[in-house]
Amino acid sequence: MKRYDLVIIGGGPAGYTAAMAAAQANMRVGLVENERLGGVCIHKGCIPTKSLVASCRFMRGLQHAEDFGMPLQVPDPVFATLVNRQKRVVGKLWEQYRVDLDHAGVMLHRGFAQLTGPNQIKIAAGYDDDNLEADHIILATGSVPGEVPGVKPDGKILLTTDHLVQMTTVPKSMIMLGGGYVACTYGSILRMFGCEVTIIEKSDRLLPSYDPEAGQFIQKQFERKGLKVLLSTTVASASVENNQACLTLDSGEKLISERALLAPGRVPNISNLGLESIGLSDTSAVNEFMQLPVENIYATGDISGISMLAHSAIAQARTAVYHLQGRPAPYRHEFTPKCVYTSPEIAHVGLTAEEARSRGLQPLTASFPFSAVGRAVAMGELDGLVTLTADAKSHQLIGGLIIGGQAAEMISLITLATQRRVPVEEFCHTIIPHPTFCEAIQEAAWKLKAQL
Ligand SMILES: Cc1cc2nc3c(=O)[nH]c(=O)nc-3n(C[C@H](O)[C@H](O)[C@H](O)COP(=O)(O)OP(=O)(O)OC[C@H]3O[C@@H](n4cnc5c(N)ncnc54)[C@H](O)[C@@H]3O)c2cc1C
Repeated sequence: MKRYDLVIIGGGPAGYTAAMAAAQANMRVGLVENERLGGVCIHKGCIPTKSLVASCRFMRGLQHAEDFGMPLQVPDPVFATLVNRQKRVVGKLWEQYRVDLDHAGVMLHRGFAQLTGPNQIKIAAGYDDDNLEADHIILATGSVPGEVPGVKPDGKILLTTDHLVQMTTVPKSMIMLGGGYVACTYGSILRMFGCEVTIIEKSDRLLPSYDPEAGQFIQKQFERKGLKVLLSTTVASASVENNQACLTLDSGEKLISERALLAPGRVPNISNLGLESIGLSDTSAVNEFMQLPVENIYATGDISGISMLAHSAIAQARTAVYHLQGRPAPYRHEFTPKCVYTSPEIAHVGLTAEEARSRGLQPLTASFPFSAVGRAVAMGELDGLVTLTADAKSHQLIGGLIIGGQAAEMISLITLATQRRVPVEEFCHTIIPHPTFCEAIQEAAWKLKAQL
């Protein structure tokens, strides 16, 4: 039996961050990982997709080289070579995880961990048949792909998001079930390689959990690029016939494609975790400090079911480690930015006008297009705009949406301002470097101020 101050189950972004933070606070930390350190983020999610996105962006640059005064003969890209680069990128980051944990003095246990009580963990299967005891436990086992009722993925034709990284060739056609950020990102990558992409979304817009402006904008972009978008459409069944994906819509219409991606979202990974040994059936009852009803046990990252994003996982892990040291720093879901790495990129934070109204606030919005921003024009990235939302009563910034530019990089400025409840006027007087994409944020703020 090994004893620790803290044992963490799962070595993805949440588990890694918690382990590093606790080790830096001189705690004795054990981390149990069943598969590969880095979790979905490094191996199947954020990093592999962003490696492909980076390659596509480079390709797009080459295709437009003439616009920049450099006519070039661009060879046809080969998807498999992009996948090779993706593997190298993943390999580098994966190795770094191990080195960091090792240097920090975190004890790594290999195997499948199961709770056997509020302070006990059994490593059930793996290299390390061991029992651990801990004052505190952080559950960070992530999530698994959600199910589409009546559809069984086979990993070849009917894929989940977990199968995407194994794809080394681009299918001629692909149907995406679900119009969330993963389907939109992959749809836009595959379209660059000539794949006929159809996105089926049951709500009335793409990116249903984002500001409505984002979904409407990306739909127009997609349709311009030849992606097909079917909204307010539900799939009744999907099966494999003659080596193809056959989908029947609720309307009775049949669609056929080489492959189909089932992307209805993800669900917390709690199977065989032994929650019954601590009197729980799931991990949804976390408080703002990510603490479960059993007070020495925390659930952080996708397992908490709050947002299913890596930066939320990281923030939640820090919150939990702070809290167990007696330093309360609550996790603030409303200030979690959400990004979509399509072309153009999309990022959103805070309240939409609709959400603000439902909370009794008086939202005012103002937008500024990138086509009027010097840096964007110089870089040939004219599509998109920044929209800011403020509350007319308090004059504080309460949310922002960026479509285009370097949206995912830029959103941090609005995140800080909304989290700190910065008054619009103060934001206007922040000095922003020229020429940058961020000037669009400031110009939108000046337009907001004019309405206050
Ligand atoms: C295609 C795709 C693209 C994505 N892109 C982005 C993005 O751009 N930005 C973003 O913020 N998020 C993105 N995400 C989401 C992001 O990957 C997750 O939110 C993040 O990985 C969650 O981190 P986590 O630590 O909670 O869980 P995970 O990363 O899932 O890690 C959990 C770890 O726990 C281990 N484990 C599970 N059960 C046990 C057990 N019983 N014992 C021991 N070990 C166990 C697993 O092996 C795994 O390593 C994407 C996801 C997908 C699928």
